[in-house]
Amino acid sequence: SANRKFHPDDTVIDIGGHKIGGGYMQVIAGPCSVESEEQICEVAKAAQASGATMLRGGAFKPRTSPYAFQGLRAEGIELLLKAKALTGMPIVTEIMSGDQLPLFDEVDVIQVGARNMQNFELLKLLGKTNKPILLKRGLANTMEELLMSAEYIMAGGNMQVILCERGIRTFETATRNTLDISAIPMLKRLSHLPVVVDPSHAAGIPWMVEPLSLSAIAAGADGLIIEVHNNPSKALSDGPQSLRPAEFDAVMKKIGGMMGYM
Ligand code: PEP
Ligand code: MN
Repeated sequence: SANRKFHPDDTVIDIGGHKIGGGYMQVIAGPCSVESEEQICEVAKAAQASGATMLRGGAFKPRTSPYAFQGLRAEGIELLLKAKALTGMPIVTEIMSGDQLPLFDEVDVIQVGARNMQNFELLKLLGKTNKPILLKRGLANTMEELLMSAEYIMAGGNMQVILCERGIRTFETATRNTLDISAIPMLKRLSHLPVVVDPSHAAGIPWMVEPLSLSAIAAGADGLIIEVHNNPSKALSDGPQSLRPAEFDAVMKKIGGMMGYM
């Protein structure tokens, strides 16, 4: 169970030698979408040089419009595996339906996106795998609902669930979503699972990624997942919120500086 009552100690998940939870923090970085070998490899190398330990990149993309770029799909996963071979970074990528699972054999962490948080059949299937699952909070889901979705995965026998707060829908329009900072201490009190924060989708604007990242760490987050692109103005998805590698490097230096005081 995800409930701390039955599991008082923090869960620590090992992802290719990188531990997360129970005091271990990791930063996952990479583009919203995998677009080309050159793009994913360049971003991976730069993010790793700045201190990111895992690479993100969408191959199957849940887009609001069916006419928008839907991701490179199987080819996107192949390109992520090339970047993994190049850098040694474990890879994190989103699954959208169960029939895609065979393509995820060499993926290190399977992401369930906000829009699929309550796709219960998908959650049950992932509960039968032995892969860590990054479970993102739905756009309009409560913390209790997020924890129940984690429970669906764990009920199948897979205890390796990482919760992700990525901002929720509120009346506010100045930011893309509203980062629910209180979700971090609350989820960590109710559950023993690691909690990661996605400041990129929460803010929707690159300059706010830094303050939200620092706030998340101060509130007890076990990790961050940040969108980084080598050419944000040409990105096929989420360019407007993506950091350039140099901007990501500056955020990582601020994080390192802050953690020196903690
Ligand atoms: C993403 O990580 O690019 C993504 C689509 O996130 P979310 O599911 O949180 O909107
Ligand atoms: Mn995105």
